[in-house]
Amino acid sequence: MPAAPTPGPLRKNARATDPGAGVLRVALLGCGVVGTQVAQRLIEHADDLGARAGARLELAGIAVRDAARPRDGVGTVVPRELLTEDAESLVDGADLVVELMGGIEPARALIHRAIAGGASVVTANKALLAAHGPELFEAADAAGVDLSFEAAVAGAIPIVRPVRESLAGDHVRRVLGIVNGTTNYVLDQMTTHGLDLEEALKEAQTLGYAEADPTADVEGHDAAAKAAILASLAFHTRVSLAQVACEGISGVTAADVAAAQQTGHVVKLLAIAEQTAEGVSARVHPALVPVAHPLAAVRGAFNAVFVEADDAGPLMFYGQGAGGRPTSSAVLGDLVSAARDRLVGGRGPRESAYASLPVLPHDAAVTRYQVRLVVADRPGVLAQVAQVLADHGVSIDTVRQAPDEPYAVGVAEGTAVLLLTTHAAREASLAATVTALRGIEPVREITSVLRVEGA
Ligand code: NAP
Repeated sequence: MPAAPTPGPLRKNARATDPGAGVLRVALLGCGVVGTQVAQRLIEHADDLGARAGARLELAGIAVRDAARPRDGVGTVVPRELLTEDAESLVDGADLVVELMGGIEPARALIHRAIAGGASVVTANKALLAAHGPELFEAADAAGVDLSFEAAVAGAIPIVRPVRESLAGDHVRRVLGIVNGTTNYVLDQMTTHGLDLEEALKEAQTLGYAEADPTADVEGHDAAAKAAILASLAFHTRVSLAQVACEGISGVTAADVAAAQQTGHVVKLLAIAEQTAEGVSARVHPALVPVAHPLAAVRGAFNAVFVEADDAGPLMFYGQGAGGRPTSSAVLGDLVSAARDRLVGGRGPRESAYASLPVLPHDAAVTRYQVRLVVADRPGVLAQVAQVLADHGVSIDTVRQAPDEPYAVGVAEGTAVLLLTTHAAREASLAATVTALRGIEPVREITSVLRVEGA
């Protein structure tokens, strides 16, 4: 049995269920993929969780849209009587609120209500935090309660806490993350089995790694919300979703993946948060990652976040980025921490945005590129192409022309494929270079432009 917390004088926001009573009431908002797992663990592991938290975590109720709908795990481990369609009343009676509904409303209003009522909140809702994080953090700050969100970035992987707490004494320079399992699975299948995007996506849907409507994953929107959160944490600066440049994987072809392999790379969808002398930037896009980089080894639907810090050097956090059970681990970790904070009358780390660094425009990013183009196959063409790059201040690192390689086979008679890799250049310079290349006679087509990261 957990030791009963020592009774103390009633504090601000104290309730009948406060530490003195040895019980904290938990309101769970949502009983879906993640909520069901959290509910089951709160019941099955009640003794352990209570002992770790210092007070019993009593599941007071679970808010859903339709309490009558049959659902797995409810009626067996989780008593059906816990389900309610009255989320507001549930929140009003809680010490700790776990928001696992997703979406913006009513999640946002319910979190505000919980905070105003003095409850600490745990959420996995990256979309809500990326869009409305600052107002929610300010409200939590004013009320002196915790608003924790480990599960909002990369599911089970502890990354929010390491960046906020373990690295609080260091200086993070860059974060590169594979933070969307669906797209990593698709790209991995394309790399391993030579599938095209559509085939790999269909397979991901069959296996349950991708939604019936995979737009949020494939177009990078899910990763962009996580990039905004990671950039805000890493650089102590508010970075909103609108400030994240976002490009998904829908344009990645089997030929891109084959060309990447020929140059010693794999294609990954990366969420990148970076600090330069000019400010900070956050972006999501497919990128070529050298095969020797630890992120290249992240296979299937796994996630990983690679952090570069001045003193710690490179760090990598790896694990399952989604799924009910893995995500419930991060949610419950936050819940136990929030309970502990409550019991000592304290709180966990607040939002840290003191640095207020400028957030750079999308075209200010500096990186290397690999450009694949179809050109007339005759002497002098390479010199013309190189001149266009030089005119725009973009210098070439390597040039490859190998007609037998898979991405180059089958081009029209009299043409050849060039694979150019550049040194680091500004996004704006590269965009101008590509426009200019399209305008010269020997260039028949720019087949792909992919950034190279992690070199
Ligand atoms: P989900 O399966 O769609 O479940 C959502 C739950 O919220 C359902 O039980 C639903 O009720 C309830 N709900 C939705 N709107 C409601 C409303 N207006 N009033 C009352 N209840 C409402 O979602 P999920 O996959 O568990 O995801 C939950 C959150 O965790 C999201 O923010 C998501 O981004 C985040 N997350 C998910 C994963 C993952 O692997 N799934 C990983 C990391 C983070 P009904 O059951 O009655 O419809």
